[in-house]
Amino acid sequence: MASAADATSDEELVTRFPGFPVDFDSAAHYRGRLTRRLLVNRCDACGIWHQPPKPVCPACWSSAVEARRVSGAGTVHLVVFLHQGPPATGVDYATPYPVVTVELDEQPGLRLTSTIVGSRNDAIVIGRRVTLDWIERDGTPLPVFRLVDQQPRSTDTAGDAGAAR
Ligand SMILES: [Zn+2]
Repeated sequence: MASAADATSDEELVTRFPGFPVDFDSAAHYRGRLTRRLLVNRCDACGIWHQPPKPVCPACWSSAVEARRVSGAGTVHLVVFLHQGPPATGVDYATPYPVVTVELDEQPGLRLTSTIVGSRNDAIVIGRRVTLDWIERDGTPLPVFRLVDQQPRSTDTAGDAGAAR
């Protein structure tokens, strides 16, 4: 399965993801998408993850960076709802379209921006836990997030209540 996707030529990869920034540094990430594996570059020298892909580690400047799989579990860091936007397959702005930046569990500050599926907009708030899911859009898999079925962490709520008293 993985070998079939890894065998995708550079030309075919660019063709499969029209309009996406597919280049030498991000090719592994997009190859991963074809088999619904979320790959993020990680430095073999110091262990730091970085996104979007760069040819050298932004922390130690090592070129020993490799695309590795992440779980896709994380926390909503930022959310906006688009009332207007460019025409896009599967996007209806009549219901404001959620765009979320998720901080992945692998590392503080490691964030990925996509959308959330399967939830009402009023449930999408900063601090909610999410898990990775995949949808098909324009013929290729797109990594998206889905709310984990729980309220914001009770410890956070308790802390806020305590501070308000
Ligand atoms: Zn490094």
